[in-house]
Amino acid sequence: MTRLLLAPLLALVLAAGLCPAAPAQARDVPSREQWLADVATVMTGSYKQFRARIAAKDPDEVLAVNFDIDNTVLATYYDGGGAIPRMLKLARFLDRRGVAVLFNTGRVAGMRKSTTGQLQRNGFPVDALCLRGQGRTLVYGKQRCRDLFAARGYTLIANIGNNDTDFEGDGYERAYRLPNYDGVLG
Ligand SMILES: [Mg+2]
Repeated sequence: MTRLLLAPLLALVLAAGLCPAAPAQARDVPSREQWLADVATVMTGSYKQFRARIAAKDPDEVLAVNFDIDNTVLATYYDGGGAIPRMLKLARFLDRRGVAVLFNTGRVAGMRKSTTGQLQRNGFPVDALCLRGQGRTLVYGKQRCRDLFAARGYTLIANIGNNDTDFEGDGYERAYRLPNYDGVLG
């Protein structure tokens, strides 16, 4: 664990007199490697689950997956916004299988163009992007977007996000909850 690695390092720094006192409320954020391992753990078995759901699709259904963006498909915290390879692979798999890749973000509506560009530059198929209205809460925005997707005829077979606000409400079959480490990763 990162904590185990950091403790001796911090002790060294303190001993060297470089840092008189550690911040009392320092957040314990794991390494990038640990985060990716935690993401992998959450997604274990997901391909099997997606394959089964796709095989069970009704003829009149249009299947889709609802993706959060920051720290769910893009490594906003750790990598400044590059693709999370595992999630890019999943999005492409879904796209090949005819499952729509829908993005539902807390980013505000004025960021549509930059966000679409960021996703596409990183290789993501983008069937739809729904952003939060200015002044609206995250919970409200996320539900509004799921409702909008449903109104367009999509069946959301999964909701993949990394914050509690991504999952409040309804309109999806299965949740994949990626880590946020007590809200440090937005
Ligand atoms: Mg997020």
